[in-house]
Amino acid sequence: MSLTLTDITLTYPDGENRLTALDQVGLEVPGGSLTAVVGPSGSGKSSLLAVAATLITPEAGTVTIDGTSTTGLTRGELAELRRRKIGIVFQQPNLLPSLTAAEQLQVMARIDGRRPRTVRSRALELLDAVGLAGQADRHPHRLSGGQRQRVNIARALMNDPTVLLIDEPTSALDHERGAAVIGLIARLTHQRATATVLVTHDHTHLTAVDRIAEVHDGRLRLPAPARRNSGP
Ligand code: ADP
Ligand code: MG
Repeated sequence: MSLTLTDITLTYPDGENRLTALDQVGLEVPGGSLTAVVGPSGSGKSSLLAVAATLITPEAGTVTIDGTSTTGLTRGELAELRRRKIGIVFQQPNLLPSLTAAEQLQVMARIDGRRPRTVRSRALELLDAVGLAGQADRHPHRLSGGQRQRVNIARALMNDPTVLLIDEPTSALDHERGAAVIGLIARLTHQRATATVLVTHDHTHLTAVDRIAEVHDGRLRLPAPARRNSGP
């Protein structure tokens, strides 16, 4: 289980010119480890996640997931890869107002012959893992901001991804709840052996992560040497 970005360059159209959002970015994230990518607004963090998630194809460079390059895959193959291997937590939870917490997870399940009962029990197990065992049948309006973010994270784990990509998970939370969410992400990463990337502009409460990389103007700077926590 791993995620590798090799020499990624991504530009966007910008009037007559092009704006370089990612400039020869390289990053290797082994399974079971959590890398935080920190940088100011506009530095390229969301672009990096979108490339890692195979939602945007960069001009140059390679995204490799579990040892397989995604270069040259068709749109359909990429969609299938995302569904099977990649959990994405966007900045906005985008929970459906009409569904309970458990149902938000259940609608993610692959239609591959799994019986509804199995899907339901997996949803409940994941809600339990994020500390929401008692909230499974609540709708989003009856959950706090922190609880909604936990549902968002649990939902991304529904298909047992090998890569977990999380965008600014603490931006709407106070300090204490932000720290708890980062701690939760670290614990889930170690327990479920996901290769996890968490991007944030917020340097605080990053004590639980295994490694912090910095991005400025699309250039990624990795720390040396990488530090790894000693497992769960
Ligand atoms: P961050 O998530 O760190 O705030 P982004 O990856 O969203 O940074 O953006 C990086 C740079 O790319 C910024 O200058 C932003 O304005 C620009 N950008 C992002 N998305 C687009 C887009 N779809 N079209 C044009 N420029 C974009
Ligand atoms: Mg962003």
